[in-house]
Amino acid sequence: MAGLKDRAARAIRRGVKAAENGSSLRTDREVIAMQRLAEIPFPEVSRLAGSGRSLVILPVGVVEEHGAPLPLGLDSFAAEAYAEAAAPHLEAKGYAVVLAPTISYGVARAAIDFPGTLSLEPETLKSLMVDIGRSLARHGLNRLVILNGHRDLSHMKALDDARETLMNEGITQVLCVGFTSDRAVTAACYREGVQELSRSVRPDREGHGGEWETSLALHSFPELVNRQIIEKLEPNFDYDVDAFRDETKDYWSLTGGGGYFGSPQSGSAETGQKIVAIRGRNIAVVILNAWGPAKEEGG
Ligand SMILES: [Zn+2]
Repeated sequence: MAGLKDRAARAIRRGVKAAENGSSLRTDREVIAMQRLAEIPFPEVSRLAGSGRSLVILPVGVVEEHGAPLPLGLDSFAAEAYAEAAAPHLEAKGYAVVLAPTISYGVARAAIDFPGTLSLEPETLKSLMVDIGRSLARHGLNRLVILNGHRDLSHMKALDDARETLMNEGITQVLCVGFTSDRAVTAACYREGVQELSRSVRPDREGHGGEWETSLALHSFPELVNRQIIEKLEPNFDYDVDAFRDETKDYWSLTGGGGYFGSPQSGSAETGQKIVAIRGRNIAVVILNAWGPAKEEGG
């Protein structure tokens, strides 16, 4: 259970760091470092909600093929990596970030013919998100950021619909970041400062399972990447870009069963490290632009 041990060590490091920051930056209240909702007891939730500064990030991904070298859970792992990278920037602006357990299932119709790809109906995803948002709000956790790592039009629309339902109920603030129906938001989160890192000969053709996702995987979960397969792959630049973007054709027919768009072999762990840092910061900027820094209740 190395993972759990790592988590504990991480939490302790964060706690120490937060305490250090707290003594220099804030004398009147404790700085709360990012908490994982599933790892804390209920009184801690009351404390977080009572602080008036809580902000929940809910990473959303999918189980979907990403080409032969990469794991099916890539989009979920990516959303988690970006959430962790965004959190310190939000905490620096006064928020108490709570990381909710990742939704690892989503709508994945384009890649459904690949073994292992699982898809929900959009209504199922929407209901799931609304139920979680309502439950969080019931306990005073009423700032919800849905951080989506999976680009699929129906999936993104379901998240948007959930946001709208929750906002109309007036119980919580909700923001969709990462891959969203709003292309400007997606660009601000994922493309800003990243495009120029490309080592691909056709950066305009890098997409699903290509240079970016391979880089992220090589940095954030290298043990799940099959490098031998990457070395043997040919780049896939010659595909119908419009059909890929608009999802008018499925991934199997677009890639001849390869499942990737672009050049996985252009990916590197070094690029992945930069991507995580840049996208984490970008996402925090988008959130702060929407909501501003955290203010104390009544102040
Ligand atoms: Zn992906």
